[in-house]
Amino acid sequence: MEQPNLLQIDERSHHTDLTSIAGLWGIELDAELWVKSLTPPQGLEPNDCPCGPDLIGENFLDGFIKPTSPSNGSTLEEQFSSRAQIQHITLAKKCESGLVSTFLINGIPKFSNNGTFTGYSCSLLDVTTVASRAEEPPYYEAMLSTFINNVPSTVVIKDVEGRFIAVNPLAERNYGVPRGRLIGRCASDVLPGDVARQSCREDSSVLETEAMREVEESYDWPDGVHTFHTFKFPIFDSDQCLIGSGAIGIDLTPSKRIEQGLLYRAYYDSVTGLPNNQLAHDRLSQAIAAAKRFDKKAGVLVIDLNYFRETRNADSQNNDEIYLKIARALKRIHREIDTVARLDETTFCVVLSNLSPTDSLQAIADKTLDLIRSHKNRENGTELFRPAIGMALSPDDSCNASDLMQQARLASKKARKHGQYGICRYDRETLGALVRRREIEATLFHAAGRDELELAYQPITEAATGNIIGAEALVRWTSPELGRIGPDEFIPIAEKTGAIVDIGRWVLHRACTDAVKINACSSRSIVTSVNVSARQLTNADFVDTVKAALHEAALSPSLLKIELTETTLADDEPVAKAVIDELRTLGVKIVLDDFGTGYSALLYLQKYSFNQLKIDRAFVDEMDKHKDGFLLTEGIIRMAHSLRLEVVAEGVETTAQRNILIDLGCDFLQGYLISKPVPVHGFLQLLRPEKVVSAA
Ligand code: C2E
Ligand code: MG
Ligand code: MG
Repeated sequence: MEQPNLLQIDERSHHTDLTSIAGLWGIELDAELWVKSLTPPQGLEPNDCPCGPDLIGENFLDGFIKPTSPSNGSTLEEQFSSRAQIQHITLAKKCESGLVSTFLINGIPKFSNNGTFTGYSCSLLDVTTVASRAEEPPYYEAMLSTFINNVPSTVVIKDVEGRFIAVNPLAERNYGVPRGRLIGRCASDVLPGDVARQSCREDSSVLETEAMREVEESYDWPDGVHTFHTFKFPIFDSDQCLIGSGAIGIDLTPSKRIEQGLLYRAYYDSVTGLPNNQLAHDRLSQAIAAAKRFDKKAGVLVIDLNYFRETRNADSQNNDEIYLKIARALKRIHREIDTVARLDETTFCVVLSNLSPTDSLQAIADKTLDLIRSHKNRENGTELFRPAIGMALSPDDSCNASDLMQQARLASKKARKHGQYGICRYDRETLGALVRRREIEATLFHAAGRDELELAYQPITEAATGNIIGAEALVRWTSPELGRIGPDEFIPIAEKTGAIVDIGRWVLHRACTDAVKINACSSRSIVTSVNVSARQLTNADFVDTVKAALHEAALSPSLLKIELTETTLADDEPVAKAVIDELRTLGVKIVLDDFGTGYSALLYLQKYSFNQLKIDRAFVDEMDKHKDGFLLTEGIIRMAHSLRLEVVAEGVETTAQRNILIDLGCDFLQGYLISKPVPVHGFLQLLRPEKVVSAA
């Protein structure tokens, strides 16, 4: 049961309430610590006070023997004169009977309204019986045995002959022998040979040296081996004669298990049980060092399974099972001395040790690639894995584990770029390309906000008349850090990182503003085409962005065209279709750009409501070189017309190409023959024959 907090009771109540607690006396002291009043516990009279009947009017401190607890170095007088709370001080006082009584005292200082110290309200509890009973053998034994049985350590007491005198339940559990069989017997009588021998050896050592020893002991428990740190010490009687030995053992197992768990987590992947990134680096360092010593090579394969994550839903348990199977399969096909590791969720690696100069890294990578591709690589008809493997070799590429791992990672990224399945060996070019990509990624996000973008316009002419009827807006980026970078290089990166959304918004606004200027300078309508990528098109606010750009510039929607490619549409067909329909309703025209380079699916032409089709320049380039090229271009134009789509040919560089296209009935032309993309003021110059009103 919880002990009453005497101090709290004093604080919140008048001392008369204290009488409700059995045996508790209330005593009021004045500023000089003279006893002013005495409140006995229920059923007792003031005369029954264990401190004596005449306490009232006496100085409270007279007659007390030193405080027995707590001993903080200060005298009782000092404690009271500090005017602090008196907490649980045990005092002894020789009473009239001559017997010494023990009291537990608590007190709180009292102050008047103006802050003058006026005395103490104390409570006094006679604990003489409790204190004296503690010395009584049965009472002492009961306390001791309760303590021994409940302490979370093993406790063993033996006599000088090594016979068990006392054992607690934890010790019984260690020995696997009940207490009843242990008491009175020696270890050699009841315990297994090796345990008994060790125990006897240590006991003898303690008894001989009469000094404490610390030993580590292990015992088999049903849940595994438990390790104890045990203190063994000699026991003496009151005459300092050696009467036995004691042992207290602390079970280190729980903390050891946590330690091991932490160690495991630090070095192993919890799903597959494979070494993790950290351990893989360590193994690679060892493999490189061994290769150096024995004139061999060490290699690393980084296996990127990113495609798997991209195409899977979040059913992680099922995914984990698949990763586990891949891990097992990888371990099966590689040698014992190699390390198969999991670097992160979708990246595995194999550290190859002790390779001879004739061992082919490529052959090992081929085998690995085949394994993953063939390993239950279909689920509901869908492909699960398209692994990309990067390879690096030591000492050829590097003798540093971190560098070699990084090189293999870079090579895996290159392999991923090059195809759906791929293997790529690290080379300097890979590093250069990837470093540049990272630099572009890092600086591109600020491009739109920092005014680093510009638009160039390339004229589009009517094939029959040569009149400029349109302009394609093409974005240009000059980075203060990296210089001028072409859209073919940065647009794919912007699409991947999402920077294209801001860039695209900027392009739309600027193109609409410029379109107003351009049309103000032209006697005929000039329609501006803006390229839009998949990420922009499917962004939730794309139509609103178009509307805002048109509205802010006060441009008629009929003077804006959006150019989309087949790849853009393939990404999210239903969304793309809805957006296109909405734009068409607004009055914006839609062009299918780069026709022939993507899926060339005629299906798209029927599915979406395009206004125009732009034949890719690769066809235009082929057209006058091969018959096939010519026939293909002719076929595309005819088919487009049959679908009532206008046709633009881009990349027209020669008059021969222009003439053929005119003969084939192509509607519009775009290319260097007419003009390269130029800044807006240059474009206005191109309109000059049609009477430029004023320069921009
Ligand atoms: P695109 O939309 O097919 O643009 C036509 C590209 O062909 C332009 O390259 C243009 O300069 C080039 N070109 C035009 N006529 C000729 C020619 O006669 N011969 C040759 N060899 N090339 C010609 P550019 O400006 O480098 O743009 C490349 C691509 O970048 C564009 O291809 C377009 O897909 C993308 N792009 C450009 N601006 C933007 C933009 O604002 N947003 C998005 N999403 N993509 C853009
Ligand atoms: Mg275009
Ligand atoms: Mg194009």
